[in-house]
This record gives sequence, C-alpha cells and structure tokens, in this order.
Amino acid sequence: MAFPAFPLTRANALERLDSFLPAAAGAYARLRNKEKGQGQHEHVSRLSAALRRRVVSEEEVVSAVLERHSLAAAEKFVSEVFWRTYWKGWLEQRPEVWEQYLGSVQEARDALDATAARRARYQAAIEGRTGIDCFDAWVAELEETGYLHNWARMQFASIWIFTLDLPWELGAAHMVDRLIDADPASNTLSWRWVAGLHTAGKAYLADPERIRSMTDGRYSPKGLARAARIPSDRIAVPSPTSIRTAVLPDPVIPTLLLVTTEDLSMENIDTMRRLPVKAIALIKGRSEWDEIALGDALSRLAEIWPEATALGTVDPDRLADTARAAGCTQIATAFLPVGPVASSIAPYRADLAKSGVAFSESLRDWDRHGWPHCRKGFFALKEKIPALIRSARA
Ligand SMILES: Cc1cc2nc3c(=O)[nH]c(=O)nc-3n(C[C@H](O)[C@H](O)[C@H](O)COP(=O)(O)OP(=O)(O)OC[C@H]3O[C@@H](n4cnc5c(N)ncnc54)[C@H](O)[C@@H]3O)c2cc1C
Repeated sequence: MAFPAFPLTRANALERLDSFLPAAAGAYARLRNKEKGQGQHEHVSRLSAALRRRVVSEEEVVSAVLERHSLAAAEKFVSEVFWRTYWKGWLEQRPEVWEQYLGSVQEARDALDATAARRARYQAAIEGRTGIDCFDAWVAELEETGYLHNWARMQFASIWIFTLDLPWELGAAHMVDRLIDADPASNTLSWRWVAGLHTAGKAYLADPERIRSMTDGRYSPKGLARAARIPSDRIAVPSPTSIRTAVLPDPVIPTLLLVTTEDLSMENIDTMRRLPVKAIALIKGRSEWDEIALGDALSRLAEIWPEATALGTVDPDRLADTARAAGCTQIATAFLPVGPVASSIAPYRADLAKSGVAFSESLRDWDRHGWPHCRKGFFALKEKIPALIRSARA
C-alpha cells in the first residue's frame, strides 16, 4: 500500500515523523511557506491529522525533533507546534467563543438568502468558480484531499473575507467540514486572526505579488482587495476563565475506557496506563478519516488491555447504562477540550454523576503547563517555550 500523504495511524505517523526529522530545522525554517501545490507539500510535516487526534502527541513530536536538533535550530517548527497549543488553550479559557461561533454560522447562513448577490458569490466560492486562479485551485485541492498548506489557508481565508466579501464564519465552516485535520480551536481562531478579530485591528491581507512568488509563478491572481475592511464582530469575546477542572480517574475502580478522536494515544498518559479497564467503548467519529484513526487506536488498546470487552460505539446518552451493564463504576477518557465531542457529552454529565458512574478525564501535562500561558497573545506562550520544554523533559 502507498504511504498515506496525511498519516492517521500511529505506525504511519511515527514513520512520517522519523522521515521528516532531518528537515525539521533549517530546511523547514527556509521553505515552510513555499506553496508547491497539491501532492508536493514535502517542506512541511503533514502530521496535523495525526496531531489533531493525538495519534501522536505534541510532546512526542517536539521531543523527537529536539533529540536531533537544538531548540535554536528547530525554533520555527517547535513554535508552529506551540501555535496549536496556543489556540487550544485560548479557546479552552473562553468556551463561549465556540458556542457563539456556532450560532453566528447559522445566522450568516440564514442571512445569505436575503441578498442574491451575496448568495451567488458564496456559491461561486464554494464551487471554485470565482475566476481567482489560486483560490479556485485551493477550493479543488481542499475538496479532493482534505488538506491545504498553512500559507494557502491564510490566502484562502483572506481572499474569502476581504475580496469576496463573505462572512468569515461561513468560510471557517466550509473549511472545517472538509479538513482532514479539522480542529475547532485552530480553525475558528485562525479564521478570526486573518479577519483581524483576534489581534484587534490586525488583519492578514493576501498580496498578489507574494502569491506569485510563493507559488513559483503558478498563480497570478487578479482583482484582490487592496485593503482589509475588518468585519464587525458578532462574537462578544469574554475575559479568560480558569481551565475546567476535571475529575481524575480512581486507579482501582473497574473502568470503562472511552475512546474519542480528541486523544488516540491515551495509553501513553500516566494516570490512564495502569487503570483496571474492563470495557472499551468509543464515541463515533465524524468522518471516514476519524474511523481509520479510531480503528487503529482500538487495536492498540486491545493489546494493552486484552481482557477488556470491546463494546463498540456508544451514544453519549447511553454512557451510564453501558458502563453499569459492563460492571464499571467509572468512565475514563482523556480531557475533552472545547469542541463537538465535549458538547455531545456535556448534557449527560449530571446523569452520570447521579447514576453513580464517575466520569474522569486526564489532562496531559503538556496542556496543563502550556494552557495557562494562552490567555493573551501568542508571544506570552512563545517566551515560555524553553521552560515548558525543560519541564516536559524533566
Ligand atoms: C484559516 C486556517 C485554518 C486552519 N485550520 C486548522 C485546523 O482545522 N486544524 C489544524 O490542525 N490546523 C489548522 N490550521 C493551522 C495549519 O494550517 C495546519 O496545522 C498546518 O497547515 C498543518 O500542516 P502540517 O502538519 O504539515 O504543519 P507543519 O508546518 O509541519 O507544523 C507541524 C504541526 O504544528 C501545528 N501547526 C502548524 N502551524 C499551525 C498553525 N498556524 N496553527 C495551529 N497549529 C499549527 C500542526 O499541528 C502541525 O501539524 C489552520 C490555519 C489557517 C490559516
């Protein structure tokens, strides 16, 4: 079988990490913004689908890179991994932004029908018929592969918002529905960053000359906006709250291990590895890609807990009954960050507690140490990177 372009199994992800290591320092710093086109993204790791599901963790990726290169040499790559930590930590401390975003997508969809011209522009955008060469090609690549290079994502979002004059929320929703690495925090907040809504007044404007140069002349877009008119924000961004406190697993209680696409290498979390797991169940994924990654995780977990009963998929409203029927008084999973999985379970947390089934979540040290520095801009986290890495390696 050909090696997958965007690994979703642990074996494939570790193989990709290993083969990418030589390029993770100087070559990455020099070439990471070169957009070479579909199937040619070898200057970047293409590990995002695996990292997003924690098929491999940020800590494993960064450690492997720093075994090979100094932090100074691999600073660019390591910083990019920390951008992921930043977005996750920022949203975790402002969960309302996610809820409000979902509401504003719906509002923007409803409003589309009010203006025929806007509806037509939206339709042309999602079908890749705008006449803007790079944009139309990226629409097709996203549809076909589920991936766009980071730099292309920035141009895509900028053209959507400032040239096509479409609501950022609809662009974010269009992209996240197609991405193989779809992530509520990285996607929503990156779109807000491009729109000029994350760092007040600072938007990202796509520049035709730069697009020509970064794509080696493949594209020559015409008619791009010359100024960024920052949209008004439908989201009322609150002050950061503290990170949700999760109940830790009790190491001796019969446990149902709950597998979700939020963390598919739970076996590597200290508090989980030694649990008396009697049953393993999973929350269904949202895409075929999720199913591949979930299937791979289940087979690894079955090797670690061979005695555990495999229960297959469980609906969130059946969690309490399923655990009790399997003789378990505890459900253990990795911490569920803001996003669809956490939202699907939230309505049933109280029922679980009432029915005597503890719902425990293990927060990785990476997040526990990193997220508190994600309350303001990225710089506050960036300056902590050396210390965070030292504590991860201690
Ligand atoms: C509009 C927009 C939407 C995005 N949506 C998503 C998304 O839904 N899911 C997602 O994982 N990333 C998203 N990103 C971030 C980034 O584009 C991808 O993580 C990156 O392109 C993945 O390719 P790679 O694995 O080769 O990255 P590499 O360059 O090899 O970077 C290594 C890892 O660092 C992380 N990373 C790199 N750049 C960023 C970044 N800017 N923000 C957050 N994490 C980063 C990823 O986990 C990535 O796998 C988005 C960026 C933009 C501008």
